[in-house]
Amino acid sequence: MTGKVYLVGSGPGGTGLLTLRAREAIDAADVVLYDQLPGDEILSTLPAHAEKIDCGKYGGRHVLEQDEIEALIIDRAQKGKTVVRLKGGDPFLFGRGGEELEKVRAAGIAVEMVPGITSALAVPASVGIPLTHRNYASQVTIITGHEDPAKGESAVDWQVLGKSRGTIVILMGVANLPAIVETLINNGKNPETPVAIIERGLRKDRRVTTAPLKTIAAVARIAEVRPPAVIVIGDVVKLYNPDAPDLIPVNSD
Ligand code: SAH
Repeated sequence: MTGKVYLVGSGPGGTGLLTLRAREAIDAADVVLYDQLPGDEILSTLPAHAEKIDCGKYGGRHVLEQDEIEALIIDRAQKGKTVVRLKGGDPFLFGRGGEELEKVRAAGIAVEMVPGITSALAVPASVGIPLTHRNYASQVTIITGHEDPAKGESAVDWQVLGKSRGTIVILMGVANLPAIVETLINNGKNPETPVAIIERGLRKDRRVTTAPLKTIAAVARIAEVRPPAVIVIGDVVKLYNPDAPDLIPVNSD
């Protein structure tokens, strides 16, 4: 009997934003393969009896390569185990969940998807930045900042984004922020557009840095902004109030 694989999103951190279905799948797991992004508050609740595999694919430290992770998921499922692949936020948004789904399906293994609350939505929400608002933005684009926009053919439509009036949310964008800013301005984005960078959202030591687009790269460098961080570009950032309390309680991480 082959086992079953659950592709589970942990949400943005903290057990409070884990879905009920995610909790059920984790509690029933024989094997959990996890990344660091879910955070200790969630990782400390993995079942005692389960085999726990730290995939450590975070912050450039690759404990396990992607093909090794996929091979482990398939191996354990073929041994009849209930396998949970636990990822931060939502597995299908810059989480390589799509690739893992393809591999697991190709191996003929049953799979269930458990969506998670993505950091792209929850981290700005936690500090009171709505991504749309009737007065400020009626569209949102979520992009990866992982690739350097200055390098050759980009998979991101920078020309379109430069002209877009919508909110831009960037994940994995800290390292390439200077090049991203330059590319957006070169493609027509107003240099005065407000930007917020939220580091370690929903955690005790979360921090928000704001500046107009034209100076945000320098401000972030001086403030030593580090990943993980969500970058929000657009007029909705005007709604951020540094004196207001967080809208989502911080977790214990
Ligand atoms: N699938 C995940 C995203 C994975 S990419 C999701 O849906 O949330 C990893 C990026 O997510 C990080 O580089 C950062 O941009 C963002 N991120 C995830 N959790 C975060 C947090 N608690 N605070 C700030 N950024 C976070």
